[in-house]
Amino acid sequence: CGIVGVLGNHEAAPILVDALKRLEYRGYDSAGIATVHDGALDRRRAMGKLVNLSDLLVHEPLAGKSGIGHTRWATHGAPSITNAHPHQAGPVAVVHNGIIENFRELREELAAKGIGFVTETDTETIALLTQGFMADGLAPVDAAEATLAKLDGAFALAFLFEGEEDLMVAARKGSPLAIGHGEGEMFVGSDAIALAPMTNKITYLEEGDWAVLTRTSLVIRDAQGELANREMRTIQLED
Ligand code: GLU
Repeated sequence: CGIVGVLGNHEAAPILVDALKRLEYRGYDSAGIATVHDGALDRRRAMGKLVNLSDLLVHEPLAGKSGIGHTRWATHGAPSITNAHPHQAGPVAVVHNGIIENFRELREELAAKGIGFVTETDTETIALLTQGFMADGLAPVDAAEATLAKLDGAFALAFLFEGEEDLMVAARKGSPLAIGHGEGEMFVGSDAIALAPMTNKITYLEEGDWAVLTRTSLVIRDAQGELANREMRTIQLED
């Protein structure tokens, strides 16, 4: 129900958990984060309150300065650790708000290729599709773009990739998403309030937009794939 992301210069895990806390008002049943560190993706997920995720991170820390985080309000698949986000398939990890309406068709398509499922979520299909496109030889950004073209529904998404510590793809279709600009850092949040401690310089994605982020760049394309100019605003946030 809430998405956050960071390409930062500090350890990402505490920043992600803090940002997720600021989205708690939306409600959730589980939470998780993923980072890419020394090229490798790893994740931690926990049921219930964010404090359970924080506790887990004390015992099983997650290093890395680039990461994504999620609070889940289950729509497809019961609340469980397995169904909690981020969902990972090989070289990609994904967090997702909303619903993929055509996930049954997508699952059938994947199943027909002999691909199995670990979770009951609609979200896992996104990770599996992207993994498939990467296995076909597409670069991460192209694989994410090809995946987005297959998705129907209302959603906000963030993708993180193995071996890519300065890259994130974010997309918005029917579910708001804000990009935050730091000093040599870039952030993503379902709500700018999540990013308040880091930055008040915000670019809102518009309907159908998808974005490629690095620490120092933001390139946004619209639903037609055309480069889109979205203004950066300095917003006033109650902290
Ligand atoms: N449909 C996804 C799921 O059930 C995402 C739900 C959400 O927005 O938290 O896992």
